[in-house]
Amino acid sequence: MEKTFAIIKPDAVEAKNAGKILSRIEAEGFGIVALKKHEITKAEAEGFYAEHKGKGFFSSLVTYMTSGPILVMVLERDSAIAHWRAVMGATDPAKADAGTIRKEFGASIERNAVHGSANPADAAREVVYFFPAFELL
Ligand code: UDP
Ligand code: MG
Repeated sequence: MEKTFAIIKPDAVEAKNAGKILSRIEAEGFGIVALKKHEITKAEAEGFYAEHKGKGFFSSLVTYMTSGPILVMVLERDSAIAHWRAVMGATDPAKADAGTIRKEFGASIERNAVHGSANPADAAREVVYFFPAFELL
C-alpha cells in the first residue's frame, strides 16, 4: 500500500462537485486515510507550490487556491501516486483523457478541480505540510 496527497480545489468545492469526486475516489479503491476542509493562506499556498515560484502563472495560481475552501486528503491504495494522477488526468482539462476528473470537472489549466502528488518525495512532503502525525493514525 502506498499513500498520496490530494486536494479538491476551490473551483470544485464551490461548484459542489466534492461529493462526486469523493465517490470516484472510493470507486477507484482508495482508502481515505485523512480528510479535512481547509482555507489555505497565501503563505501556505506559496510554500506548497514553491517549485513553481517565478513562473508566469504563479501569482494567479496562489490567488485561485486562496479563493475559497479546499478539501485536503491522504489517500491509500497500491500504486496510489500513479493511480491518482491517472484518475485526475492531464493538468490542462482540454488535453485530459475522457473519463478523468479534470476532463469532467476542470474549467481551465488553472481551475482544474484536483491536485495529486507527482512522486513519492512530493507525497511525503505534501502529507506532512497539511497533516500532523496524530491526524494520520
Ligand atoms: N497551472 C496553471 N497554469 C499552467 C500550469 C499549471 O495555472 O500553465 C496550475 C494548475 O492549477 C496546476 C498547478 O498550477 O494544477 C500546478 O502545476 P503542475 O504543473 O504541477 O500541474 P499538476 O501537477 O497539478 O498536474
Ligand atoms: Mg504538480
